Amino acid sequence: MLYFDHNATTPVAPEVAEAMTAAVRDVFGNPSSTHRHGQHARQQLEDARRRIAAALQIAPSEFVFTSGGTESNNLAILGLLRNLPSERKHAITTEIEHPSVLETLRQLEREGVEVTYARVESNGRVEPQEIARQLRPETVLVSVMHANNETGVIQPIEEIAAIVRSRREAGQTIWLHSDGVQAMGKIPVNFDMLGVDFYAISAHKVYAPKGTGGLFVRKGLPIRSTLYGGRHERERRPGTENVPGTIAFATALELCAADEPQRLARLRDHFEARVLAELPAVEINGGAATRLPNTSNLVFHNVSGEALLIALDIQGIAVSTGSACSSGSIEPSHVLLSMGRTRQEAKSSVRFSLGRHNTAEDVERVADAVIASARQLRRSRQPEAQLV
Ligand SMILES: *Cc1c(COP(=O)(O)O)cnc(C)c1O
Repeated sequence: MLYFDHNATTPVAPEVAEAMTAAVRDVFGNPSSTHRHGQHARQQLEDARRRIAAALQIAPSEFVFTSGGTESNNLAILGLLRNLPSERKHAITTEIEHPSVLETLRQLEREGVEVTYARVESNGRVEPQEIARQLRPETVLVSVMHANNETGVIQPIEEIAAIVRSRREAGQTIWLHSDGVQAMGKIPVNFDMLGVDFYAISAHKVYAPKGTGGLFVRKGLPIRSTLYGGRHERERRPGTENVPGTIAFATALELCAADEPQRLARLRDHFEARVLAELPAVEINGGAATRLPNTSNLVFHNVSGEALLIALDIQGIAVSTGSACSSGSIEPSHVLLSMGRTRQEAKSSVRFSLGRHNTAEDVERVADAVIASARQLRRSRQPEAQLV
């Protein structure tokens, strides 16, 4: 099997599986219990938080454990906006966000919050000036993802943070949230340098199991829990903590430090160079912007992306069209449409996302298969209707 879908999820690293299995076996106590089993679990949980805080260069109290990236984005956005007393509230985001940001903001619109969805350039990047243009005196939140899951395009968070900061220094109540689920582990991330106030991450995108995530909440920022229950996680996220999941997450984040982004970038660049050299009418979605080192999103004109995906799957190669969250849906990618791709081009696009275990040889085999399969599909001339 050749797995080239690491932006959808990653295989669990052996060290992570081992640490988590040991925790499942040995750390069964409830961290809120007073007896020794509880104390042991509490100590293991707080140790995991300290390890993550060290990896992220933050204070342990600034990290809230959640069930994943989706809940982290919900917690940041709902937790901040529902907690602010102001009458009129406005938020700015982009058209290319993950559904866990877009749908959360749509819910807030039903609750009376005004939301602006900023467009992106054809290279997949939101212009900081576009964010600046949309700012209002009542704008309380700007939410822009760090790296896009479909194209890998890295957004200008530092520049957006500078705009938000200047408003705040002028007296406005305004904060910056970033969905960092795809950036974490793939590029260096430092919250102070980025200038973010909230940053969401997820364990299963960094070689740990599904079901654990986290939210960086800058010290002193008050958020209201989105769930109701006990006083866990400093009253920011009720529910008995997933102790083995947090240990797995900490172990996984530490392992990411040893990854070599340049190695993946070289493999990805070679893959793209080969496909573009050997197949006509192929373009890189977001190719004109700075991207994550592992992500390649290609539009194969006059080829159904879904048909190419299936042809590759038969050959043991796993890739995706759109994002995992929306594949299977008949709608073309909202990210590619926002970049100005036609519906047909969006449906002719396929994402290849590399990971830790992919080798140069894997990349040659995938390139061979992609080139042969796309040629075959073009020869078979599928009717237009299939693409639209
Ligand atoms: C996967 C993903 C999420 C959701 O994370 P889960 O842990 O699967 O809920 C959010 N944002 C982005 C950009 C993602 O890629």
